[in-house]
Order: sequence, then C-alpha cells, then structure tokens
Amino acid sequence: MKKICLNKVLIVISCFSLSFLPGCEEGSSDDGYTTNVSVETQSKHIKALFFGVGPYAYKNSVSGGGVGPSSRWTSFRRDSLVEIILPAKTSDVDYEFVVEEIDRLNTAIAGYFTLTVILSGKDELTSANDNQITVNIVNSDVMKKNCGEAGGGCIQQKFYKPDDHFIKSGVSYYPTSEGIFDIHEIGHGIGLSDVNPGAFPEGTMASAGGRHIPKFSDSELAAINRVFTSGLKVGATEQDFWDAGLIP
Ligand SMILES: [Zn+2]
Repeated sequence: MKKICLNKVLIVISCFSLSFLPGCEEGSSDDGYTTNVSVETQSKHIKALFFGVGPYAYKNSVSGGGVGPSSRWTSFRRDSLVEIILPAKTSDVDYEFVVEEIDRLNTAIAGYFTLTVILSGKDELTSANDNQITVNIVNSDVMKKNCGEAGGGCIQQKFYKPDDHFIKSGVSYYPTSEGIFDIHEIGHGIGLSDVNPGAFPEGTMASAGGRHIPKFSDSELAAINRVFTSGLKVGATEQDFWDAGLIP
C-alpha cells in the first residue's frame, strides 16, 4: 500500500499486505539464489523492480508498491553519498545484517552512488535530511500511525521537485518486536518496487515485506547491477530501458 499525503512528494509504502499472498512458486527451475536466470526472466524482473509493471509486478497493491511519483527510473542522484542511519538501540545482529546487505548493494550499484551505514547516537530518527534513509524501531502504535493498519514495515519517501525521479530522503519503520527483520524497506528506499512472489519468488522485494526473504537475492543484485552499469541514468524511461535492451 502506498498513500500520497500532505503534498505530492511524500509517499508511504506499507508492505504488510503482501504477507497475505500465497507463497506459491510456479514455473521454472529456480533453485533459489542464482544469477542463472534467462535474459527474458531478468528483463521481466527489471521491469517489475524498476517500474512496477509487467508480468512480475505486484499488481494487487493499490500503489504498485514502491513506484515513485514519476513513471521514470527513480533513485538517488549519481555520485550521491547516501547515509543509512540506524537508531542507537539497534542490536549488534541487526547492525551487522544491515552493514553486510549495504556492502552487497554497493557492489551491485557499482559506484553509481554510494551507501554508507551510520549508527546514530539517538533512538528517534523520524526526520531525514537530504540523501538520508533513517530506520526507526517503534512500538505498534507508532507503526500504525506511520504505516497505516498494517504492522509489517514501511518507508515514507520524499522526492525532489520538479524531477520526481530523484529521491530526496526516506524514513523507515520497523516494529520493536522484530527489529530490522529485512532489507526490503531499504530496497524501496533506493527506488525498487514490490515484485509478485507468485510470479517470481526470488528476493526480498518479492517476499512478504521481506519477512520470508530478508536479504537481497543474487538475482536481485544481478538485476540491479545490470541497470546501474547500463550507462542509463536515473530518470530514464521504460522506452530508454527497452532501447538499451534491459526490458522486453
Ligand atoms: Zn514493499
């Protein structure tokens, strides 16, 4: 679920509703985390992740689950230094999980921009400056207030005007009872959309808000890498992706 509030640049993506989807796996061969998917499969995956459309997109969501306000590739500006800021109370396990996942993500992004993890001295990180994604670990009342009825996890994002395809910042929320249980919200934080797990179950963006698959899969990282090393820039259109041979 995503709602647009206050002004057009604030978008809330809640991921809990995904957990009602059946976890069925259909079709091919997938042996879990492999980059061995066909070009056609990767193209559909890219289309879903970067534009929220096509056969692998999560269509039942009101929102398209993560697509920014523009219909273009939406992410941080090239050469940005993006800070992922964790609250002081983050557990060691959660901290190490995020650091490892961000390392893997930086490798996939290949220097287009750079993400860095910072442990804050504060527990309350409900505002984010430009090029920051904050993580808040909050009780169920605060979860409901910020993420709607659903309690899984969510992120509120802001975008630069008038070029809505540039992400400005994100404020994410996770429930105290579960801590930072996935990297899914950070995936939204860099502009990725939900993928329908019934169509293509590999990866945290395809799971129920990340509950079943906390980490990026190799196929997700391969898709991200292909786009970020394609020579295209954030703001590219579906047509640009098609012209570059990235999507069907
Ligand atoms: Zn989601």
